[in-house]
Amino acid sequence: MGVFDALGGEYETISFHHDPASGLRCIIAIYSTALGPALGGTRFWPFESEEAALRDVLRLSRAMAYKASAAGLALGGGKAVVIGDPHSAKTPDLLRAYGRAVERLGGSYITTADVGTTSEDMDVIATATNFVTGTTRGSGDPSPVTAYGVWYGMKAVAEEAWGDPSLSGRHVAVQGTGKVGSGLVRHLAREGAQLTIADIDATAAEALAAEVGADVVSADEITRVPCDIFAPCALGAVVNDSTLPAFKCRAIAGAANNQLERPDHGRALADGSILYAPDYVINAGGLINVEDELHGYDPDRAHAAAAAIADRLRNVFARAKSESIPPFEAADRIAGERIRAAAVRDRTI
Ligand code: NAD
Repeated sequence: MGVFDALGGEYETISFHHDPASGLRCIIAIYSTALGPALGGTRFWPFESEEAALRDVLRLSRAMAYKASAAGLALGGGKAVVIGDPHSAKTPDLLRAYGRAVERLGGSYITTADVGTTSEDMDVIATATNFVTGTTRGSGDPSPVTAYGVWYGMKAVAEEAWGDPSLSGRHVAVQGTGKVGSGLVRHLAREGAQLTIADIDATAAEALAAEVGADVVSADEITRVPCDIFAPCALGAVVNDSTLPAFKCRAIAGAANNQLERPDHGRALADGSILYAPDYVINAGGLINVEDELHGYDPDRAHAAAAAIADRLRNVFARAKSESIPPFEAADRIAGERIRAAAVRDRTI
């Protein structure tokens, strides 16, 4: 089997780790360390097959590399998947075996929490390796910094769309009022934005609406609300064949990962004059927060770095305009070029 070709020739290291005693089966993918150590979460999930786990870890590690690069961080991109049901398979023995696997990579990969793992799990992993962030003694829940970064990114979006970064009086429709969405809504309310919000948990949305003075619509309606900015803060693939014709917004800017179901949806937004803030650029606050932990966590510094997401987006919009391409392609070019330039520098050392 042509393993290297099958993997697209793009990845630096892919390692498979097995510990029969604890039942650990995991894959750690490092897309690149050109810009720095590959930081990315550990996803613990009952994948339907080993192929599905490999596909996911490859896709996610590449996405981490692009997110870190676009955020200007000195980080590469990596991700780990542990195959199994976290409710039954996640034992201290297994987490320690996983920590030893991370340790063997010598710091080229640094882990943190993701779907199926918690800060408490990172504490256990930290007994076997130093290459771990997001422990209970570390930077904590990244969601407030993510929300802060999205808020600042939205100001750059407003500036691009209307020539004025102020969100006061702008109508923002927020889909999902969970950890990030609720934080974003509170920032926007304080700035004087008009808010319409929705969550499949209607009680949570109603409670937040009462607190900040927002309107509530059903989860089905939120993508169709006439507004200035639609902010996806729930699930991915929210820009798709069925939502595209229904959007009545001038811009889309929110925290959700993988908002475009397919690349051509990003092109359709541009054709329809809807300004799109590329998801991995505007939602990098969480990664920025955990990266700060590597330097001794300082929440003020993490917030300041997240506010600079506004400048990153300004660059993306400028590049999109100058090359007549949609913003998501401009973001990919900027992020990819930074990784490739660092890799070239590495080769000359
Ligand atoms: P969360 O689980 O706390 O919140 C998500 C909310 O969306 C929940 O309240 C859920 O009920 C709601 N929801 C789900 N489906 C919905 C639908 N169809 N319509 C309306 N509401 C719906 O998650 P979170 O941490 O707030 O993350 C939100 C999004 O941002 C996710 O896509 C996540 O991957 C992304 N993200 C989060 C962070 C972070 O720091 N937490 C960082 C980067 C990206």
